[in-house]
Amino acid sequence: MKTQVKALVVGGGAVGTSIAYHLAKAGWDDVMLLERDELTSGSTWHAAGLLPLFNMSFATTHIHKYSVDFYKSLEAETGLNAGFAVVGNLRMAQTQERMDEFMLYASTAETCDVPYVWMTPDQIKAKWPLIRTDDLKGALYHHTDGYINPADVTQAMAKGARQRGVAIERKWQADAFHWNGTHWEVTCTKMVEKGGNLVPSDEQIVITAEHVVTASGNHAQRTAKMLGIKIPAIPVEHQFIVMDQDPALVAHRAAGNPEHPVIRDADAQSYVREERGGWILGVYEKNAPAVFEYGVPDSFRADLFPLDLERIEDQYMAMIHRIPSCEESGLKDDFNGPICYTPDGNPLVGPAPGLRNMWLAEGFSFGITAAGGTGYYLAQMMVHGEAEIDMASLDPKRYGNWMTTEFAARKNEECYDHVYVLHHPDEERPACRPLRTSPAYDRQSARGAQFGFVNGWERPNYYAPAGFNDHDARSFRRGGWWQYAVEEAKAIRQGVGLIDATAFTKHRITGAGATAFLDWFTTNKLPRIGRINLTYALTAHGTTRTEYTIVRNAENDYYLVSAGAWTAYDQDYLLKAIEDKEAEFGRINAQDVTTQWGVFAIAGPKSRDVLAAVIKDADPATALSNKRFPWLSAQRIELGMCPVNAIRVAYTGELGWELHHPVEMQNYLFDLLEKAGAPHGMKLVGARAQNWLRQEKSYRAFGNELGRDATPLEADLPRFVDLTKDFHGKDAMLEKGIRSKCVTLLIDGPDDADPWGREALYHGDTRVGRLTSGGYSVAFGKSIGMGYVKPEMAVVGTKLQVKMLDQLWPAEIVEDSPYDPQNATIRIDG
Ligand SMILES: Cc1cc2nc3c(=O)[nH]c(=O)nc-3n(C[C@H](O)[C@H](O)[C@H](O)COP(=O)(O)OP(=O)(O)OC[C@H]3O[C@@H](n4cnc5c(N)ncnc54)[C@H](O)[C@@H]3O)c2cc1C
Repeated sequence: MKTQVKALVVGGGAVGTSIAYHLAKAGWDDVMLLERDELTSGSTWHAAGLLPLFNMSFATTHIHKYSVDFYKSLEAETGLNAGFAVVGNLRMAQTQERMDEFMLYASTAETCDVPYVWMTPDQIKAKWPLIRTDDLKGALYHHTDGYINPADVTQAMAKGARQRGVAIERKWQADAFHWNGTHWEVTCTKMVEKGGNLVPSDEQIVITAEHVVTASGNHAQRTAKMLGIKIPAIPVEHQFIVMDQDPALVAHRAAGNPEHPVIRDADAQSYVREERGGWILGVYEKNAPAVFEYGVPDSFRADLFPLDLERIEDQYMAMIHRIPSCEESGLKDDFNGPICYTPDGNPLVGPAPGLRNMWLAEGFSFGITAAGGTGYYLAQMMVHGEAEIDMASLDPKRYGNWMTTEFAARKNEECYDHVYVLHHPDEERPACRPLRTSPAYDRQSARGAQFGFVNGWERPNYYAPAGFNDHDARSFRRGGWWQYAVEEAKAIRQGVGLIDATAFTKHRITGAGATAFLDWFTTNKLPRIGRINLTYALTAHGTTRTEYTIVRNAENDYYLVSAGAWTAYDQDYLLKAIEDKEAEFGRINAQDVTTQWGVFAIAGPKSRDVLAAVIKDADPATALSNKRFPWLSAQRIELGMCPVNAIRVAYTGELGWELHHPVEMQNYLFDLLEKAGAPHGMKLVGARAQNWLRQEKSYRAFGNELGRDATPLEADLPRFVDLTKDFHGKDAMLEKGIRSKCVTLLIDGPDDADPWGREALYHGDTRVGRLTSGGYSVAFGKSIGMGYVKPEMAVVGTKLQVKMLDQLWPAEIVEDSPYDPQNATIRIDG
């Protein structure tokens, strides 16, 4: 057995095996896979093997699509038949709301080249007469997917991997990881059978590997402990039952009819597929418990839990309703196994926090569907430095250090329970909340704040009158909250509004090497002392890794503000870059001060008047004038008794200031501003209105327009890229050229809906791009969006169409910052 390899993959389920295969395929010829038991002995062996392409996430849809295409090619390569039944997938809707959901999903499918067709109840009945259709509105049909044998596809990938030189070692468990500065030293123990259990023997070896990938499935908590990190992957019980033969189905097939597609009755939380003349029913029921929060016992191998039939009674009855002929079929077999979940349902794929050359591929709930694509894109990241799609939405660092076992377990149960709820784009899930609150939370709550969940924080989405129910107001069109967001957006354009932006990520960078480091790390010129700049940190591939607002407090003292959802993600990149560059640039201190500073953003033509009433200054009348406090500058001011680091900038594109204040004084400041704002009609404003307003100014948002799949030049932000200096990723950025370009569009959409930022863009019959943001513009009285189109299309005045609710709606590319392009209102003096 080798003890020195380029890459060691830990875990021989579908995911680990695919990663080993794809690393070899991508050119690494020294890859080893380690499995503590037998290949597929984790969750993989008992999966139902469905490969649904339906997914709301752009990255995950790409991953699933790759898998489905890849699995079809495996037999030709390996000679092993993985039992891929391409029967299609029929997703049925009982309500118009569910159809709306499918139409929104269809946007994602379209932008990822996933084919789909619509079916009416009559068409379904004509094709599959055993299905009851009288209560259906319609269905979305994918004809290219189906189901596969999970063990066989894993063995086929294993064979393909071996053919490409991968060493697969079974009955070896990775037990300890040590980074020696250039390599991982992995202590491995030979596992042996003892009384039916799998236990460690005395035989140990140390394997040295340049890179390690963990794909440890249900053992993720043990892996986390060994690595000294947090991984919010905890399994939940998941059941499916296999029914005896259904005579009507047997007769239907005997008449020469093809196999039924996988039938998904989302409104009944279940899926059904054929199995040897009978049916398999899989459910996503309520109250499925999390398991193995503190690790998998030695006694649990390729085992199952007892069936809990009572828990799935409703779904069972719903199956009989949908396929009445199965009523007489008895129960033939049952499966209740651990299925790994994460709090948001996306797996955790990418570099581990704080560690070098350690890659995670954990938390897969659709791991058979995702295995192929995960292997493909993770191998790209490891071998080439980046994947061709932005993998940020799957990054393991999207949960910070605040995350706990209890949080992950309860959130994962909720996520399981929510698999088939209507996934409104304005959905907010209730479990584990409130958890991270800024001090003003209670005050905001008392004033009607409806909160959103951002990286654990409670952040007001909008404010509504007493008794308003956010849950019932959600929609795929304009939700019941829409009118409140309109009023808030208008308040900022016409009067004054106050936004809580405390969730922002904040770092302080100091030390003799700070200036040289940041100059290399970011694209824009560094600001002068007392000034601010917008700037970008790039990946080695020249695409956008992080957007920063940098405030320069002193020669070597900087305050960096970045997106609130990405604290750990930003910090990890920053700290690793500092570690790499400190020897060259000199001492650099980085301090995460996110939870020390609260942030209120006050904006609107009357914002200066509100602040002037409370600022303590020898001459309050001029303290906030353009002369004394110019646009894009920062100052320490005093508002009443609160010391404030004020930055004259507003993400809403109106006259305004960000007020960074000691978090323990937040309630004092809130009360002070609320009182001073009252005579000016100041409104509390939430994130939804802010999101619309920033689109009127074409301000790009991280995670939407900005990410690892586009350079800042493709985001059309050359003014924040100083090409006269050298910076990390510059050459790669220039080499990439402009593959597509970011534009702003005004849209004549339906009367009752705005785009959400996932929709396809068409020019005639040709798809030319996609939206990355969407919303409503109060300034123009119509829908607005931002997105990427082919560069030749990115011309002001170009007429395009946006596909919304399965129809094409006229849209026009407008100049950047269609509202106040000269920035006159932001710069207004007073
Ligand atoms: C009832 C049920 C039905 C399902 N149906 C579907 C479906 O239809 N479609 C779908 O896509 N998904 C389905 N799933 C989910 C699917 O089974 C999982 O997502 C998938 O198997 C995860 O694969 P994995 O490789 O990540 O984990 P696993 O298959 O659990 O593999 C992890 C492996 O790592 C090994 N390991 C752990 N720690 C170590 C260590 N320290 N050293 C060495 N080896 C180690 C384990 O022994 C294990 O073999 C279903 C799950 C259940 C429970």
